[in-house]
Amino acid sequence: MNEFSLIDTYFKSRNKSKSSQIKLGIGDDAAIVSCPPGHELVVATDTLVADVHFPSTIDPVYIGYKALAVNLSDLAAMGAQPSWALLNLTLSEFDDAWLNGFSDGLFELLDEFELNLAGGDTCRGPLNIGVTAAGWIPANQALTRSGAQIGDVMFVSGYLGDAAMGLRIYRNDVASELSAEDTDYLLSRLHRPTPRVALGQYLCGLATACIDISDGLMADAGHICEQSNVGLEVSIDDLPLSIAFKSASKDLDDLDLALTGGDDYELCFTCSEEQVSLVESISREIDLPLAKVGTVTERTGVRFIHAGGKILETEKTGYKHFG
Ligand code: ADP
Ligand code: MG
Repeated sequence: MNEFSLIDTYFKSRNKSKSSQIKLGIGDDAAIVSCPPGHELVVATDTLVADVHFPSTIDPVYIGYKALAVNLSDLAAMGAQPSWALLNLTLSEFDDAWLNGFSDGLFELLDEFELNLAGGDTCRGPLNIGVTAAGWIPANQALTRSGAQIGDVMFVSGYLGDAAMGLRIYRNDVASELSAEDTDYLLSRLHRPTPRVALGQYLCGLATACIDISDGLMADAGHICEQSNVGLEVSIDDLPLSIAFKSASKDLDDLDLALTGGDDYELCFTCSEEQVSLVESISREIDLPLAKVGTVTERTGVRFIHAGGKILETEKTGYKHFG
């Protein structure tokens, strides 16, 4: 199969979204896209490299799903409505089963959010997947990392550490008495992260700062601190941990998984104290736990504090590619 029939078979022919903003999609030298009046374009890109971001033996459905999910998570953190995506695919060989699985995973999420795959690039080489996702936001409404104010409260969506615990299970390093249900749940948090797109949009005009947690809360909350020039005090007891995480947890060190494990793709955001009841009503509306875990302080840096006031000592921070 040549490059062009590959693109047609696995990607172009599966495109369902008929977004009125896509003037010209896959098939020409470039896509032509318009922006709704009064809106700004928000763009994110992320690369997944085999054996760095995922084991090359993993089910390709998960790879297709996650390659898009991590980008939608970045758009969610800005409050954007996702609209279209580009796919840069480097494959070591033509493999029909792999491409079918990969495009199933990718299109499951493209279709769920009614996104158009507007283009991409296909070439041969070590397995590598780059996705660019774009969306819209009303002008000047985007959430950023830089607006946290002293006295604000800090929230985290969903649960922390489930994906990191899922990775531990994937590597066969977990308590054997864990139930099949908990095992499946934790593995699904690793393989099929949920981009918090609806939450991000609700937070526009409400949150003062927002970031998606990809490298672990410790590192990512740190980015809000640096860019807002404030500090954060986080209550360890208030960190949201799932029942499955607690069942799988072997010892207290597992707290590190929740703080530095990464791959959570939850949103961490700050807002003024007056907005707390609104945040609680959003949580009910979208059926997503939103845990109030900390406060914004004048003293810079992130501090994790035990119930008795003792500050957590940890050597670890988030995952860094260049150490
Ligand atoms: P060019 O050689 O001019 O860069 P290509 O042959 O790479 O064009 O691409 C032809 C068309 O197919 C373009 O519209 C491009 O965006 C699209 N395309 C290529 N690879 C992919 C892919 N993996 N997924 C989606 N669209 C793709
Ligand atoms: Mg090309």
